[in-house]
Amino acid sequence: MVDRTLFFGLELVGEGTIFVESLRGYVLRLALLHSLTPRALLEILLKKYPFGSNPKSLSEECSFSVTSENIRAIVQRWQMHGSSDVGLQLLENLQKATGSCLESSTMARFHAFARTHLVHHRPGRYCPMCVREETDPEKQISPLLWEIQAVECCPKHGVLLRDRMTCGSETLSQLRFAQRPQIPGVCSACGCIGFECVTEEPATASAVQIWIAESVGRLVAVSMRQSEGMNADTLRAGLIDLVRVCHAGSPVRAAKAASVSPSSFSIWLSGKGQPSLRMLLDVCQRNGADLASLCEGRFREISSPKAPQKLVQRAYARSATSWSEVERVLARAMEQEAPPSRAQLAKQLGINPHLIPRRFKTQSDQLVSVGQKHRARSRQATFEKAVELYTSVAMALEAEGTLVTRSRLIKRSGKASFESSSPLTRALEEVHARFRPDLAKRDATEVPE
Ligand SMILES: [Zn+2]
Ligand SMILES: [Zn+2]
Repeated sequence: MVDRTLFFGLELVGEGTIFVESLRGYVLRLALLHSLTPRALLEILLKKYPFGSNPKSLSEECSFSVTSENIRAIVQRWQMHGSSDVGLQLLENLQKATGSCLESSTMARFHAFARTHLVHHRPGRYCPMCVREETDPEKQISPLLWEIQAVECCPKHGVLLRDRMTCGSETLSQLRFAQRPQIPGVCSACGCIGFECVTEEPATASAVQIWIAESVGRLVAVSMRQSEGMNADTLRAGLIDLVRVCHAGSPVRAAKAASVSPSSFSIWLSGKGQPSLRMLLDVCQRNGADLASLCEGRFREISSPKAPQKLVQRAYARSATSWSEVERVLARAMEQEAPPSRAQLAKQLGINPHLIPRRFKTQSDQLVSVGQKHRARSRQATFEKAVELYTSVAMALEAEGTLVTRSRLIKRSGKASFESSSPLTRALEEVHARFRPDLAKRDATEVPE
């Protein structure tokens, strides 16, 4: 007997090409095929394969229980293209549920050298030309390339990507939240196919933007076999090769040419740290290097646009900050009511954030604790204000004889949050429970809708 999978074995589109489909796009298509909303599909998936069923990839503190809140957060942010626990678990479960190989649909396979925070995601962008060209709705896909933050344009059409949330229709003709379709190539706000609602002409991308999109495209297009051979060591070897070929083996000259501080560059070369994807692209562009080859461990020349454009706003000269200046800025920061974080301070001073605690341990720890206290205070203030607002709305509803529901509280107050841990959500739950004690008991055992 043939083993049946939970969902249809839908194949990933464009594997091995720069337009390989993203996991988000795949989930949208799979849901459509089953006549389900993406959220309902994920609920079924997580019921069959609960998170945490594979302890290998899931750290203990991130055990994830299946509630509709969690799934709502996934569907809202679609943070599934990196190597986070949630992303890896979803990828694995979807592969089990469809029997298809989906590894090329996320950046997780590059996790050995691009740690989670090095791969940025901006879900839900699209190329206005691509969505218009494809008239067959069944062939509309959402490429992984459009979800990577460093990429700003479509390499095929040379136009800037657009935000899925920008709808050109009048507010009146837009659909209600519950009716909004989630289909690749369709405006979810008004249901327009190919985003016809946006009538503006697509904006032309710069030569550098196109070069970046092509470079990242070549990386996402590498085969599984190739990406298995890429790791932190091969990236390091690639950088060393670049320094040898382009700068006669001088890391300082390479750093200056890329407008990166020599200390950062030597950290990368020694393997103690890695550049972000954005910085790596900057180095590649200034030296005319192919990103995918560099990750594989060798320098391969590829012509880059003549006029270099600065991608990372970091002036090499700024790292000449003196220690007394750092100490002074630190002391000043601690006196502020809303102090900057250590990373913000380092950015402002143009120095490596790790240097601050190394040199000024006590002050730096103090700064962190002052910042934490400030954030706790502001969260509490937001919570109290929201409780006050929701309470007044709830009282008005009761006075009218209308039932107090969460959606009415949100609609009347005009305040909503989609994050389960936000103070707004906590306030909403508290007020709702106070006015609907009958429901509060049931909610504790059932999943709230
Ligand atoms: Zn395009
Ligand atoms: Zn629209």
